[in-house]
Amino acid sequence: MIHEAYLSLGTNMGNREDQLKEAVRQLEEQKSLRLLAVSSIYETDPVGFTDQPSFFNIVVKLKTSMTPDELLAACQEIENKLGRERIVRWGPRTIDLDILLYNHDNIKSDSLIIPHPRMTERAFVLIPLAEIDTAITLPGTSLPLEQYVKNVQGKEGVKLWKTADAFYRL
Ligand code: ADP
Ligand code: MG
Repeated sequence: MIHEAYLSLGTNMGNREDQLKEAVRQLEEQKSLRLLAVSSIYETDPVGFTDQPSFFNIVVKLKTSMTPDELLAACQEIENKLGRERIVRWGPRTIDLDILLYNHDNIKSDSLIIPHPRMTERAFVLIPLAEIDTAITLPGTSLPLEQYVKNVQGKEGVKLWKTADAFYRL
């Protein structure tokens, strides 16, 4: 079975563009995964713990034969390889990979909640996601993504930093 998923990637430590590039490259290297789209990079003000450097955020779309748990494990392996350190919750990190959507599934386990529970409140997720796919709807709702983008707070803190074309060629 082939599944479609969206991931959110974010970093605010070191060379942020290089970290994103390296993470995307490592996703591309996975045998049972194929990248379909990579968004532009957005530079975003930190939310939650605000006394930290700004983030670079992207969203990628992929297809995969991995189960959600396998996909999470692959994401965590990439986080570990890139030497992610987390001292403060929501604090600075080398790289964070979150699963936003997996098909139209609703998943709740000890290790995984999909759709990502905070995605509709995060302009830094919704804006790059909408760039890839404005037409998608979230499972259990009929509201198009555009509506969430329209309603989300903090859009002024999310600025286009580098277009998809200039950032990564699949
Ligand atoms: P956060 O992304 O919330 O800032 P972490 O990246 O440290 O924090 O994630 C903590 C845990 O969140 C992970 O160990 C993972 O099991 C869990 N988790 C739950 N849902 C998801 C999801 N949709 N994508 C990624 N991780 C998730
Ligand atoms: Mg995470």
